[in-house]
Amino acid sequence: MQAIERILSEVDRAADEIVDLTAALVRIPTVNPPGEAYDACARFLGGFLERRAFGVETTRHPRVNVIGSRRGGPGPVVHLNGHIDVVPAGDGWTVDPFGGLVRDGKIFGRGVCDMKAGIAAAVFAAEAIERAGVTLPGTVEISGTVDEESGGFAGVAHLAESGRIAKGRTDYVIIPEPLNVDRICIGHRGVYWFEVTARGRIGHGSMPFLGVSAIDGMGRLLQSVREILVPALASRRTAVPVVPPRARQATINVNGIDGGQPVGGIQTPCVADLCRAVFDRRFLIEEGFDATKKEIAELVGRVAGDTGAAGVRFDLRDLMVVHPVKTPDDSPVVAAVDRAIRRVLGRPAELVASPGTYDHKHVTRIAGIPHCIAYGPGELELAHQPDEYCRIDDLVNATKVIAVSTLDLMGASVP
Ligand SMILES: [Zn+2]
Repeated sequence: MQAIERILSEVDRAADEIVDLTAALVRIPTVNPPGEAYDACARFLGGFLERRAFGVETTRHPRVNVIGSRRGGPGPVVHLNGHIDVVPAGDGWTVDPFGGLVRDGKIFGRGVCDMKAGIAAAVFAAEAIERAGVTLPGTVEISGTVDEESGGFAGVAHLAESGRIAKGRTDYVIIPEPLNVDRICIGHRGVYWFEVTARGRIGHGSMPFLGVSAIDGMGRLLQSVREILVPALASRRTAVPVVPPRARQATINVNGIDGGQPVGGIQTPCVADLCRAVFDRRFLIEEGFDATKKEIAELVGRVAGDTGAAGVRFDLRDLMVVHPVKTPDDSPVVAAVDRAIRRVLGRPAELVASPGTYDHKHVTRIAGIPHCIAYGPGELELAHQPDEYCRIDDLVNATKVIAVSTLDLMGASVP
């Protein structure tokens, strides 16, 4: 039997173990925020890798990350990265979100598709190569990192900043996020979170004409956002294949607003002298950050000069900027995963980009590695939902794809 066939049958043979590992990870409630049970999960994953003869490193800065490495020949280093944190369970579950229930060919639980199944797929991709008796031409690394759901700063960003994941040391990165088993994710849009503060002048609520309402001023701004900015953004389309297709345009969301007397608090007969709003602007790679920010600043400036908002002062403050990323069209990692998907599933891969953001940004922007993609089991639409699940056949197929791609990237020929 050819090496690839042996590896594929080792994955099939390991199916129950892959399911068990996924369920065991789900049972560790690594909820973020705030970041619970990280140590327990890192210890469990590190121990699992150590028992299978991976070299295991643990870093703490200030939160724990774990990396297992298996070295073969001098060939390329393929790094498989998964975040161990999951979002809170929320309401609406019909099963225990941290029970790791297996039923009807699916594994249920918070974070099962996003992305504990992906971590299990990465581990058993490497394991199947070993069990098939195939010598690795290079090195495979598997990391379990924290805080992806809150920006990844103590996780992948830290590993990149400390040089543990770095250009020259790491050749290819595959992040097994749930993008559907036949899709390769080549990047994401940009994120600009900002806060606008409107300041008016306090006055008696019985004589509002003697004060300046910051809430009225913010109302003007929101009206301009809705009437001017939203239609302008809707007319801009990216050439990047963002999914779902409606996310192929630039967007803005008002995340929160707060001003004047606290609603439900003590009555104060006052004109609101302060109102703050937080916005979430998703921008396209074609727009770029500078133009995005300039457009917002100009809009705020225009509203400030508007007679309807007379006397209100506005301040704009950046909260977070994530620049968009895109894997180069001719990247070997895209070609290898595409070949593996054809080999395992018998159909070509669909290239997609994420409407949100994920740790790809740190791999590319901080570590300087262009050859990064996300590929993993589970359906994107189920992430962060109640009764989140991952299909076992998708999990097994994704494990095969990751195994074949890993070997292919190391220079082995994949027929
Ligand atoms: Zn995720």
